[in-house]
Amino acid sequence: MNFRYTLLLVLGLAFGARAEDLKSIDSYRDAGAKANAQLTIPDWPQTPEAVETSAREAIKKGNAVLDAIGKLDRKKVTFQNTVVALDDLAYDVNNVENKATIIKEANTDPKMRAAAENAVKTLNDWFVGIDYREDVYKSIKAFADTNPQLTGEDKKLLDETMRDYRRAGLALPAAKRKEVEQLRKQLARLGTDFNSNIANAKRPVVFTKAELEGMPEDFFTKPGIKTGDDAYSVLANVTWQYNTVEENAKSEATRKKLYIARETLAKEKNVPLLNQMLTLRNKIALRLGYKSWDDFQTEPRMAKTGAAAQKYIDDLVAGIEPKFAAELSELQKMKQLDVQPHGNGVFTAPRINIWDWRYYQNQLKKQKFAVDAQALRNFFPLQKVLDGMFAIYQRIFDLKFEQVAVPYKWIGDLELWSVSDAASGEPLGLFYLDMFPRDGKFNHFAEFEIIGGKLLPDGKYQRPTVTLLCNFPPATADKPSLLSHNEVEILFHEFGHVLHTITTHAKYARFAGTHVPTDFVEAPSQMLQNWVWDKNVLDSFAADYRDPSKKIPAETIQKMKDAKLATAGVFYRRQFAFASLDLALHGPHAENAPYDCVAISNPILEKVFLPIDPSTTFVSYFGHLNGYDAGYYGYAWADAIAADMATVFESAPEGYFDQQAGVRLRNEIYAVGDSRDVNDSIEKFLGRKQSVQPFLK
Ligand SMILES: [Zn+2]
Repeated sequence: MNFRYTLLLVLGLAFGARAEDLKSIDSYRDAGAKANAQLTIPDWPQTPEAVETSAREAIKKGNAVLDAIGKLDRKKVTFQNTVVALDDLAYDVNNVENKATIIKEANTDPKMRAAAENAVKTLNDWFVGIDYREDVYKSIKAFADTNPQLTGEDKKLLDETMRDYRRAGLALPAAKRKEVEQLRKQLARLGTDFNSNIANAKRPVVFTKAELEGMPEDFFTKPGIKTGDDAYSVLANVTWQYNTVEENAKSEATRKKLYIARETLAKEKNVPLLNQMLTLRNKIALRLGYKSWDDFQTEPRMAKTGAAAQKYIDDLVAGIEPKFAAELSELQKMKQLDVQPHGNGVFTAPRINIWDWRYYQNQLKKQKFAVDAQALRNFFPLQKVLDGMFAIYQRIFDLKFEQVAVPYKWIGDLELWSVSDAASGEPLGLFYLDMFPRDGKFNHFAEFEIIGGKLLPDGKYQRPTVTLLCNFPPATADKPSLLSHNEVEILFHEFGHVLHTITTHAKYARFAGTHVPTDFVEAPSQMLQNWVWDKNVLDSFAADYRDPSKKIPAETIQKMKDAKLATAGVFYRRQFAFASLDLALHGPHAENAPYDCVAISNPILEKVFLPIDPSTTFVSYFGHLNGYDAGYYGYAWADAIAADMATVFESAPEGYFDQQAGVRLRNEIYAVGDSRDVNDSIEKFLGRKQSVQPFLK
C-alpha cells in the first residue's frame, strides 16, 4: 500500500464527508414545520463553570416549578398544572443531566469531565428528593381525588405518578413514612458497603507452571503473573485472569482451587451484610403493603409480581432441561477421557462441576467449532458495516438517514446524522456517532439519550437527539478499523436503541422511546442481534476489505452458529440459576425471621446449574444483588421475548429485510414506547399471544 493511499484513507476516516457537502440542520425546517416537529442540536456548555451553572439553573427552575405545584389552590388543580407539569419539569432537568452525562463520558478535557460528574451527582440527588416533596404530592393527590375521567396515555400518566408516590411511602401515615425513609437510607448505606467490599476484595492464588498446564503461553508473560521461580500469581478477583485459568487449565485441582478462591471473595463481610440488606428490603416491602421485596421490585415491570417472574424462570428451566442434559453429557464424555484415559471402556459419566464447565466447553469449541476470529475481522471494516447496517435499518423501518453538519464537535471525528420518515420526509431525530476509544472516554459501547422525545407545551413535538459512544479499534497506517463479529453484533444492538428512542411518538417524556419497563427495554435490541447471524444479511455488507469480491464462507457462519447453539443450554441454565436465587432471596419471608442468604442460594445454584463446593458463597461476590436485586430474571425474560418477536421477521416474505415487519415493529413497539402496556404492544406486534417456545427452540 502506498503512502498516498494510506493518507487518504486516514483522512477519509478522520473527517468523513467534507463539511461543505453536508446538509445543515436548517434544511429540515420546512419538513419539521409541516409535521409540527422540532429537531434540535444540543447547545453544549463549553467550560466547567458553564456545566456547573447548567445544573444549578436546572435545579433552580425545577424547584420553582415544584413550589408552584405545591402552592396550587387545591380547588384549581388540573391535569395540566399537576401531573403534566411534573412530567415537563422532570424532562427539562433530565435533558440537562443527559448532556452532563455525555460530557462526563466523552469530553476530552478532564476538568470538564470532573465538573460534569459533579453535576450528574447533584442532579441525581435532586431527583431523589422530588419523591419526598409532600406539598407536591398533596396537589397531585388533590387532582387524583377529583376522579378525573382520563383515558389511554393520560390515565397511565396519572396512575403511574400516583403509584410512584405510593412506592416512596407518601401514602403512609407520617410515622410509618419516616420509618420507611430511614430504612431506605440505611439500605442505601449498606448497599454502598456491599459494592465496595466487592470492589476491594482481592485474592492472589499462586500456582506452579505444572499446575497451570494448558494455559496459553502469553498468559505467563502478562504483567504481574510471574512472581517468582516457578511461581505464577493469579488474581481470583480479576475476571479475565480467572476465566483464562478456568477455560484452559487442565488440572481440575487448579480450577477448583481458583474457583473456591473467587467464590469466597468478600465472604466474611458480605454474607452478614447481605443478610441485613435482605432484612431491610423485606421490612420496607411489608411497610409499603407488599408481600415481598420481589413483588415491590417487579410491580412497575412487565412481570408485575415476583411469583410471575419465578414461574417464567421455572418454565424456562424445565423447558431447556433436555438441551442442558445433552450438553452436559457431551462435556462428561470429554471429562471421562481426561480422568480415565486408559479406562475399561465403560462410561462412568464423571460429574461436571461448576469449576469444570468453562474448561470442557472451551475444549469443545476448539475441537469442533474453531473459527479464526482475527481473520474474520477482515470482513468487517467499520465503514462498510455502518453502511450495510444503515441500508438494512432504513429499509425495514422505512427511514432515511442523512449526515448533517456538526456545529460543535467534542472530538474531531464526531459525526451527526438525521433520521426522517422515508415516506413523508417528517424529521424524527438526530444521532451522533463517536466511535473510537481515547483516554478518559466511556469504555464500553452504548446508546445515550441526550434530548428525549416529548410533546411540548406549545404543541410541537420535540424530536430526540441521541449518541452512540463506542470503542471500535481505530484504523492503523495500513488497515481500516476492523470489527470483530461480536462488535458488529453490539453495533446492531446499540443502534436498535437509537431507533427505539428516535422513532417515538409518546406524548409524555416518561413513556417516550426506551423509557419502558426494565425487563423489556433490551428485548427489541436483543432481537436485532439475530441479524448478524444471518448469511443473507452478512453478505449484504461483509466482504474482505482487501478483496471485496470475497464474502464470509458459509461454513464459517455455520460453525459460529453451531458453537453458539452447542453451549446455549449451559449458558442459560447458569443465567436461570442466578435469576432464580435472586428471586428466592427476595421472596416472602416472615419479618422477624433471620436470613441465611447462603442457605437460600447455594442449593438453587446446585439444583439449577452445577455441583458447587459447600465452602463457597457465590452471593457474597454477586454485585447484581445491589441494584439489580429481584431483577436478574430480566435478562432471560427479555431474551425470550426477543426470540418470540424475531419470529415475525423469520416468517415474513423477506425475512430480516422485510419492511412490513419492520414498520410494524416501529409502529407497535418503538413509537408507542410505554404509552400503553408493553404486553399489549408485544401482542399487537406478534399478532398473537406471547410464547416462550421460540426461545426454547
Ligand atoms: Zn442494550
